[in-house]
Amino acid sequence: MEGLTDGALYKNTIRNMEHAAKITKLSQSAVERLRNPRRAIIVSVPVRMDDDSIKVFAGYRVQHNQVLGPFKGGIRYHETVNLSEVAALAALMTFKNSLLNLPLGGAKGGVTVDPTQLSKRETEQLTRKFVSEIAPWIGPDRDIPAPDVGTSSQTMAWMLDQYSNESGFSQTGVVTGKPVEIGGSAGREAATGLGVVYIIEKVLEKQNRKIKGVTIAIQGFGKVGMHAAIEAHLLGAKILAVSDVHAAIYNPEGLNVPELVTYYNEKMTLDGYHGAKKITNDELLALPVEVLAPCALDGTVNSNNAEGVKAKIIVEGANGPVTANANEILHAKKCLIVPDILANGGGVVVSYFEWVQDISWLFWDETQVREKLRMVMDRSFDKVWDFSQRNSLDMRTSAMAVSLMRLEGAMKLRGQIW
Ligand code: GLU
Repeated sequence: MEGLTDGALYKNTIRNMEHAAKITKLSQSAVERLRNPRRAIIVSVPVRMDDDSIKVFAGYRVQHNQVLGPFKGGIRYHETVNLSEVAALAALMTFKNSLLNLPLGGAKGGVTVDPTQLSKRETEQLTRKFVSEIAPWIGPDRDIPAPDVGTSSQTMAWMLDQYSNESGFSQTGVVTGKPVEIGGSAGREAATGLGVVYIIEKVLEKQNRKIKGVTIAIQGFGKVGMHAAIEAHLLGAKILAVSDVHAAIYNPEGLNVPELVTYYNEKMTLDGYHGAKKITNDELLALPVEVLAPCALDGTVNSNNAEGVKAKIIVEGANGPVTANANEILHAKKCLIVPDILANGGGVVVSYFEWVQDISWLFWDETQVREKLRMVMDRSFDKVWDFSQRNSLDMRTSAMAVSLMRLEGAMKLRGQIW
């Protein structure tokens, strides 16, 4: 599809897929189907602003593949959102859900908007209009959105309400990542960050080490980065640095994470925090830490800064944070990179648990959710690790290979390829 597949993230994602497809001798027909999304929906989202003017925003939902089950993936509000990026992120969801052995396909959505410039009322209106436009294509059995960059459990609550209003009855299973009061799952808020920490523990376990005392730098302090910091800190890791859009901060003794979280929740910025030194984002990436977790946007570790990275373990909390060039540079430096489709899978795993709980009207407590999440993350990591050891391959190629083999098997059984 022209225009849809042009961006760097799309090209990189498909290149990774084709590389792993060669190694697993995947059929050409499977590659051909996975190279293009099934459907791309583009909508206009008009919003009456607080000053009574009308602004029209561009909205997207790309449904990549549903051979394993209903489409599933987040909704992103960010000023850089474009069709090609959403398509790449949708493909990554297909690969992620397959790798994690979930009965779900892959999709992603987004609106090109800077959400920090909107009032609460404007954001609610934007969300309701967007849902109305994509309503024919979503639903608990069709396509189930969730939070992503710039959206939250509140966004999901509005989506659920709008979709239910249009259908005439309450449909809690239409979105995941909702507040627990209206059908959300215990543990969903922290799930992606917690999954990142489980993966860090697994990597260290392979090196016969524990997370206690290990030094970590985290890029991003949103839904993923903040919870990764909280959970790793609880286990005794030393979080030396974190960053947000305004600032990066560093304390060589380790940050006081609980105090920092209180500060951040109050000020909505890391800037001005007294317990650390302000540094630049590139300085954060180059810190002498054992683990680096990029948990912000795609392309943040790139050919301009990869040479400076000193960490020997990178765990991709964001989707697509390491570019193809940076990947090569880091590989040459013997850095072990756990790719996004494995490392940040905790979010969609607990989204799946939420969807199951909504459908069955039976809710689990947080301990159950965490135990089940750990089981899925550990099992998926082991599968990828074993494949990489057996075939002397890096984790990115191995994760993609394991994912593709399941997708190909399902396509064959359903008669989509032969
Ligand atoms: N946006 C998250 C991701 O990229 C979660 C998706 C979901 O829960 O459906 O994995």
